[in-house]
Amino acid sequence: MRFRPIFESKIPRILRVEAIVLWPFMLFAGAKDDYKYKHRLLRHELQHAYQIVEHGVIKFYVTYLWEYFRNYMQYRDGFIAYREISYELDARDHEYLPMDEDELDFYELL
Ligand SMILES: [Zn+2]
Repeated sequence: MRFRPIFESKIPRILRVEAIVLWPFMLFAGAKDDYKYKHRLLRHELQHAYQIVEHGVIKFYVTYLWEYFRNYMQYRDGFIAYREISYELDARDHEYLPMDEDELDFYELL
C-alpha cells in the first residue's frame, strides 16, 4: 500500500491540524523543510499509515469516525473525543520510536 506525503496542503489548515493521513495521501500544513526535525509528528503520522495497512482503509476510517462520535457523546468535547480515539492513543504511543532510514526517506527529507 502506497502513501504519498504532500506538503503545504490546504486541507490540514482547513481542519486546523498540522497533518492528516487521508489515504493514499499524507497531508501536511507546512513546507517540507518545516518537518526536518519534527520526527515525533512524522512518526505519529507514519503510525496511522501502518494502522491503515494493518486494518484496511475502510475499517480504519469507519472505526476512527465511530470512536470520535462515541467519545464525543461521552465527553461532549471535540478535543477529548479526538484524543481518546484508539488509533490516536496507539499513534501517540509510537511517537518516540526512532525512524529508520527508509521511513525518513519516505518523507523525502533526507
Ligand atoms: Zn493522529
